[in-house]
Amino acid sequence: MKISEILKNNKVTVSFEVFPPKEWDKIESTKHIVRQMAKSRPAFMSVTYGAAGTRTGFTTEIANEINSSGVTALSHLTCLTSTKEKINDVLDEWHNNGIENILALRGDIPKGFVFPNDQNFRYAYELVNTIKARGDFCVGGASYPEIHPESKNRIEDIQHLKEKVDCGLDFLTTQMFFDNDIFLNFKENCLIKGIDIPIIAGIMPITNAGYIKRSIELSGCKLPKKFKRIVERFGENPAAMKQAGIIYATEQIIDLMANGQNNIHIYTMNKPDVAESIMKGLSEIINE
Ligand code: FAD
Repeated sequence: MKISEILKNNKVTVSFEVFPPKEWDKIESTKHIVRQMAKSRPAFMSVTYGAAGTRTGFTTEIANEINSSGVTALSHLTCLTSTKEKINDVLDEWHNNGIENILALRGDIPKGFVFPNDQNFRYAYELVNTIKARGDFCVGGASYPEIHPESKNRIEDIQHLKEKVDCGLDFLTTQMFFDNDIFLNFKENCLIKGIDIPIIAGIMPITNAGYIKRSIELSGCKLPKKFKRIVERFGENPAAMKQAGIIYATEQIIDLMANGQNNIHIYTMNKPDVAESIMKGLSEIINE
């Protein structure tokens, strides 16, 4: 099913992200994780794409498993280090596998990377154009409530986002954030700019103090005082930190929904128990 159909009518949706394993011999255990998560009945599940375009087959395999579990799959695809030929091969393969939804991404710039020639992509909007030209995929794009780290300012960031959306994007998914006001301001700025496609809010449950440093380094997002205090108090106690992280994420989602945000994407870090606990905490709210 196309995600644009799932997002129609602005009903409440909660979806999950998983990542494929780094080694092929872990593929079965990741498929097991997918099947566990599917039991929580997410609206759809996304699967990430290896940095620098590596391990495409792993993403395909996990997307197929998601679809076989009765949940709609969203495959991420990065383009920066791929040729247009390679991207078209991947699109053919995904089409033949019945994968209908793609999150079109540029990918991070590897250290020392030089743009080789015009057979490559420079920005995600070019990938969106390539995918949309085929006409058979529903396409999403990334967005950054706290602006993309390479952007000079918010105005430039949202201008480029608008250009990407105008290439035919069906929806946006945001980078993780921990302060809902930042997201709600971003959403308002998008509307002012004429970006009126669904924006899915990305929520990362921090269940382990070790994730925090890495997540902040990768995303550049700010941690509210309330969250810092939780980490200071419970960071050294893994079970307590996990419980507090799940409750923080659940409360964040409830507050977003109370503010009219109906589409939520959970960065599950491949933890079915965390995804399940959040879904249980939202059971009546989702079916409201
Ligand atoms: P773009 O939309 O191309 O933007 C990148 C930068 O270029 C921005 O600063 C933008 O403002 C600027 N820009 C855009 N167009 C122009 C233009 N015409 N002229 C000048 N500047 C321009 N990475 C992975 O490797 N695998 C994944 O699976 C993955 N999944 C992700 C999922 C989500 C929801 C998010 C938010 C990110 C994900 N990423 C993933 C990370 C992503 O690849 C990086 O953040 C990357 O640096 C930017 O990708 P983008 O698609 O947002 O790029």
